[in-house]
Amino acid sequence: MKVLIIGCGSAGKSAAIGARRHDRSAEITIIGDEDLPEYSRCGLPFVLSKTVRRKEDLIMHPTDFYEKILGVDLKLETKALKIDVEETRILVENKERERLELSYDKLVYATGARPRLLDLPGSVLEGVYVLNSLSDLEEMRGWIEAGVSSAVVVGAGFLGLEIIEALRKLDVDVDVVEIEDSPLPVILDRDMGSRLIDVLEANGVKLHLNTGVRGFSGTERVEKVITGSGDLPAEMVVVAVGTVPNKELASEAGCEIGVTGGVKVNKMMETSVDNIYAAGDAAEYMDGVYGHPLRPGLAPDAVMMGDVAGRNTVGAAEEMSGIISNSTVKLWGLEVASVGYTLKTALARGVDAIHGRTVGSSRIKYFPDRTEVVAKLVVERDGGRIIGGQCIGEGAALRINTIALAITKQLSVEELVKLETNFAPPVTPEIDVFRIAGMSCLKRLTKH
Ligand SMILES: Cc1cc2nc3c(=O)[nH]c(=O)nc-3n(C[C@H](O)[C@H](O)[C@H](O)COP(=O)(O)OP(=O)(O)OC[C@H]3O[C@@H](n4cnc5c(N)ncnc54)[C@H](O)[C@@H]3O)c2cc1C
Repeated sequence: MKVLIIGCGSAGKSAAIGARRHDRSAEITIIGDEDLPEYSRCGLPFVLSKTVRRKEDLIMHPTDFYEKILGVDLKLETKALKIDVEETRILVENKERERLELSYDKLVYATGARPRLLDLPGSVLEGVYVLNSLSDLEEMRGWIEAGVSSAVVVGAGFLGLEIIEALRKLDVDVDVVEIEDSPLPVILDRDMGSRLIDVLEANGVKLHLNTGVRGFSGTERVEKVITGSGDLPAEMVVVAVGTVPNKELASEAGCEIGVTGGVKVNKMMETSVDNIYAAGDAAEYMDGVYGHPLRPGLAPDAVMMGDVAGRNTVGAAEEMSGIISNSTVKLWGLEVASVGYTLKTALARGVDAIHGRTVGSSRIKYFPDRTEVVAKLVVERDGGRIIGGQCIGEGAALRINTIALAITKQLSVEELVKLETNFAPPVTPEIDVFRIAGMSCLKRLTKH
């Protein structure tokens, strides 16, 4: 069995491991167009800020691991150019710029996504950056080190905010422009997201909410960002407004593309074309709450999808569960986490949902050094099924995992409230914040 994987990122590497775990003898090849095997893209902002000292530390496994331990043929600096479905082979160009054909029995398409660029006047000026790869990082660093004292970041999503924190650590003045009315608008409702405004401002970030970018101006290098509410001077711009799936080769090969623009896959990660699987940011799957089409955008999703795809290429019959977008970010020491549906998204999709929110504490009230923890739970009005959670404060990233399990297991808020959560004065409050948020949901449910 010849398994060929396009893309050596989180999904591609996991597909190789999944296939190898299930089949010791399969002939597995991964091709990747970058010059390094899988590295943690999630760590890029922390190399920028110098929290992680060496970019090499982001490499998840050395080249040897693929060849000696996994028994996989790793071909780096090799780009797939075309998939020939009839002949079950792909055309590639290697680092010597030779064009070669590689045949497959099963193909895993794991090409990831690229940053969405703004098609606006001046967007190709020098000094306008995105951050998606180590080469983007190098370019951005070079620009900063040449002497940059002010930057504008477009987009206050988790990537934009991580970049802002990194730039502030490098003593760069930052303005952030966000078209929505609060930070992290995709994963937090406004009542939660607006809690981050103080944190950003306290750390010297100038926030421009409800503001759209109209273009960039400058002679050769960027000098200003033109927004709906005036011009902002900038020696550098970072655009962080989401991603676009690298779907082109799969689409040309006849794979169905979903409404989100990703390559459509079923539960087994099969595309609509025989013998081609897709996984990770290039794919479109479904959310784990209502089964709506969704494009994954998080590393754990890419890993799980890659694993399922890889195993299935060699005869397993694994199914992927729905994606619940369990995400977290830490900003100036403050943890933020979210899972499932926000209230805003639920209502926009016609779900009759209510919420419960509590401003609690990380530890019991008499214990020193306690900090504020805010939790919000989103549940269906009819029956109280839990469909989303948001949390800000100490332990938010781990607390949200309980809600992730509740969503996955379709638990009701009544069941959550009855959960035995632990207690010790230096560690936790008497009652967990999500149970209190749940009680607040129950009150609203019984009122109706
Ligand atoms: C700066 C940054 C920070 C992030 N932080 C987090 C985080 O904190 N938490 C989290 O969960 N997620 C985070 N993410 C998202 C996460 O990194 C992605 O969801 C994950 O990398 C997706 O994995 P993938 O394998 O689908 O794609 P990728 O990791 O992008 O890998 C795809 C690979 O395929 C290669 N490729 C593309 N086309 C071809 C071709 N034709 N031929 C050969 N190779 C090709 C690409 O160059 C790339 O190397 C972050 C992303 C970025 C950019």
